[in-house]
Amino acid sequence: MKEVEKYWNPVVETLPPEKLKELQLKKFQNIFKWAYEHSKFYHRLYTDAGIEPGDIRTFEDIRRVPKVEKSMMRAIQGKDPYPYGDMLCVPLERVTIYHQTSGTTGQPVYQADSWQDWEWWAEAWACLLYAQGYRDYDRLFLPFGYNIFVAFWGAHYGAEKLGCEVVPGGVLNTEARILKMQELRATAMAATPTYVLGMADTARRKLAIDPAKDLTIRKITVAGEAGGSVPATKKRMEEAWGAKVYDHVGATEIGAWSYECSYQSGLHVNEALFLVEIEDIDSGEIITGPEKRGKMVITALDRMAQPCIRFDSKDIIQWGPDECECGRTFRLLKGGVIGRADDITKVKGVLLAPTSIEEVVRSIPELSDEYEVLVTKKGDLDDITLKVELIPGQPNNNIETIRAKLIDQLRIKTNLGYNLEFHEYGALPRYDVKAKRFKDLRQKE
Ligand SMILES: [Zn+2]
Repeated sequence: MKEVEKYWNPVVETLPPEKLKELQLKKFQNIFKWAYEHSKFYHRLYTDAGIEPGDIRTFEDIRRVPKVEKSMMRAIQGKDPYPYGDMLCVPLERVTIYHQTSGTTGQPVYQADSWQDWEWWAEAWACLLYAQGYRDYDRLFLPFGYNIFVAFWGAHYGAEKLGCEVVPGGVLNTEARILKMQELRATAMAATPTYVLGMADTARRKLAIDPAKDLTIRKITVAGEAGGSVPATKKRMEEAWGAKVYDHVGATEIGAWSYECSYQSGLHVNEALFLVEIEDIDSGEIITGPEKRGKMVITALDRMAQPCIRFDSKDIIQWGPDECECGRTFRLLKGGVIGRADDITKVKGVLLAPTSIEEVVRSIPELSDEYEVLVTKKGDLDDITLKVELIPGQPNNNIETIRAKLIDQLRIKTNLGYNLEFHEYGALPRYDVKAKRFKDLRQKE
């Protein structure tokens, strides 16, 4: 492949690191000045901190800029300009689309985008889809309920931008979606990992369709949950569909900031459009190398209507040690988004990332895709229960062997002991979009 055909934007995707940093600094100065001058919220925040646009000259200066948290966004919401509040930098007439966060961690956050910002969303998605091998001959099926959540709206516009044919599979049910995919010979789709696995299960059981053999989907972009970067979950999805699965992480209030390329060597941060800083959770120091995990602080460098500047995302990430073979100079994250600062929770005094449990369950072929984790308190002690389902008709369905394997692997991966419950296939809840498999039922102080 010619170099120029490998990249959506051959110039920015291969900029030498020092040029990329120069670009980021310049863009940060611009967005900071824009927000300072056009948003009362940001003006207040920066004036109180004693920082003004002329003060940002280096990356050290950026680290002094106050962070923005979700709670601050919620506090101004519902005030003028209604309903966004004064974080807005443009008159309401310039806003062309509304979205909101799903509200799984509290009241939803409202997000305004102008047409210019929506173009920027599409650009970020076009860049990531292109890196995953999407081209103008692809027919992308979107089995997605188009609604107020941003989810795969960006995929739709980004795919159109690069010339793919988009099939909006909005209000169809799962069976109708599968049949339509088959009829149209769709080549790609984008969905949450939970739904990718759920669709394959429905296809096999209700339609006697084996997605790997009877359908033509060969690329799947997943987002919305961690599964795309959990190796055992990714393997299950790839085997079920006979397709390559690529992870993407984005957020309503941030944008489409990271993606896996066709080399599948970790998540690239789109550093031409975003500045990602990793902050040590205890000391607050910025971590620049691959030595340890921290909390992501992110800036969308070109988002204008409702800017996202040094947003404290609570996502736990870690820089990868290597460069990617694809030749992009955008840095890689190791293991994707490892968890969130608010759900990497302490159980029996041990830090637990729910994705580690997922990795163990999905690596045991006799267990179904579903599982549930319950954390409760018995007296003063934490108690953790893992519910799993056995797939019927498997040759090695010996519960005691599976139990021993689970206990062993869970001990290695999470350092904890569990109460294990085995359920019949189909007994645990199924989810259409994002699953809620981790339930912390302890009283919060
Ligand atoms: Zn790459």
